Amino acid sequence: ATPTAVMVGTGIGASNGILIKGGEPLESAHKIRTIVFDKTGTITKGKPTVIDKRIFFQNSHMTLDRMLAIAGTAESGSEHPLALAVRNYCKEYFATEQLGLCRDFKAIWGYGLQARVSDIDSVINSTNSNSSQTYSVLIGNREWMKCNHLKVDDGIDKTMSVHEHDGHTAVLVAIDGKIVGMLAIADEVKPTAALTIYALQSLGLRTILLTGDNVKTARAIASQVGIKTVYAEVLPTHKERFIANLKENDKSHGKIAMVGDGINDSPALARADVGIAVGTGADVAVEAASIVLIRDELFDVVAAIMLSKKTVWRIR
Ligand code: ADP
Ligand code: MG
Repeated sequence: ATPTAVMVGTGIGASNGILIKGGEPLESAHKIRTIVFDKTGTITKGKPTVIDKRIFFQNSHMTLDRMLAIAGTAESGSEHPLALAVRNYCKEYFATEQLGLCRDFKAIWGYGLQARVSDIDSVINSTNSNSSQTYSVLIGNREWMKCNHLKVDDGIDKTMSVHEHDGHTAVLVAIDGKIVGMLAIADEVKPTAALTIYALQSLGLRTILLTGDNVKTARAIASQVGIKTVYAEVLPTHKERFIANLKENDKSHGKIAMVGDGINDSPALARADVGIAVGTGADVAVEAASIVLIRDELFDVVAAIMLSKKTVWRIR
């Protein structure tokens, strides 16, 4: 590429919120044949909210309210978008900023969390004689329960599946070694996601959805936006390897792009031929990506590719 063409291309990009880190990504972008999308925060808004709650096991002590307060408190140790959803819901539900005490918190990437929580009575406003009680809590997906030798019975599995078929994420709450309840969390698809996928497919690109979320949830979201190829339940650490494998086995001799928000997919962004970070505050993503879309506008992916094509046409 001539330096002038690159300057023009990156200049037009920059004035439209499309930061292209030099001539290399600008030229690579028009050779993209496969484009992999992260789900949470990329295809979806990344602002999940709790839309349903269930208790499977209750008695005079363990009520729906108590389960909620315990879950909200346990999630106070986590920075995961799902955690924020649970916390916010809990605060709203009890109309308080106050959560209980969370200790020994451990996030298990791709699965969920474990923690010990106490001071729950102050949250649910109950005066319990046993208010110093500490609960040991696990929150996460089916696999996380299985890892902890807790059986997810058919009834619970069905309840989760109903939500998953609608594209929601269902997480289980286990307290003191028993699966007590479920929270269903919804994250809306971005308004221009379907249009973006449609445009990319019209340009002849292969589109793939890559996520750590449940396969049913992932398929539901994919079908809402028109993506047919789905790889779900991929652990954060395996997303990078997925991109590496794709590059190795790609027969089309095209470039592989990864679009993500950087929340647990930065290594995959860096591994792709063209890493595209979209609408993210995550510094890691901005660093790992070769194209940064400043606006939270997914259609800018199409704009970036068109800009690349135009620049290359100008060169030849
Ligand atoms: P994604 O690819 O969508 O960013 P992750 O790999 O971060 O997904 O998480 C995969 C799954 O692990 C989630 O869908 C959820 O079931 C479970 N999980 C992870 N962190 C949490 C958490 N803090 N609370 C509840 N569930 C969680
Ligand atoms: Mg994400």
